[in-house]
Amino acid sequence: MPHPFSQNCGYCGKLTEPDQYDFDRCVERVTVIRRGGKPVPQINIKIRENLHAYCTRSCWEAAEPGLADTFEVQTTYPPFGFVNSCCRCGASVNRTHNYVRYSIAAMTYSTDGSPHAACTNDRDWIVLCHNCEHPEGPGTAAASQDVEVLEPEPL
Ligand SMILES: [Zn+2]
Ligand SMILES: [Zn+2]
Repeated sequence: MPHPFSQNCGYCGKLTEPDQYDFDRCVERVTVIRRGGKPVPQINIKIRENLHAYCTRSCWEAAEPGLADTFEVQTTYPPFGFVNSCCRCGASVNRTHNYVRYSIAAMTYSTDGSPHAACTNDRDWIVLCHNCEHPEGPGTAAASQDVEVLEPEPL
């Protein structure tokens, strides 16, 4: 069933169902909070822009190689760390400062007309260093005030 935020799948063109995969560009940084005396990393997402949606996991998987070519990346799905290697050039990305991440998130949209969507799984697809894509570069002027906070999988 299409929902208010259905889009044409970025691979097959069909309208997406409430369970869809969102491909987003995020500008974010990682901070650390303490919980029960333990440091817990949190991803503070400053900007999240949706670029495409895919109707199923298999459409996403089919679209991935083409996207990897478009983004000219060597690696995908970096394991979470405070410092990662840029997926394009290998330079280090210090994630405690703003950086650009592209993510693939499994979403469940509500069908009652409200703009709510539950994110069941938000995976880092690629992270890029400032030389490859600067977080304050063009296209990020429309910063939102709300910061979305995510906790990555435990280290
Ligand atoms: Zn599709
Ligand atoms: Zn790079």
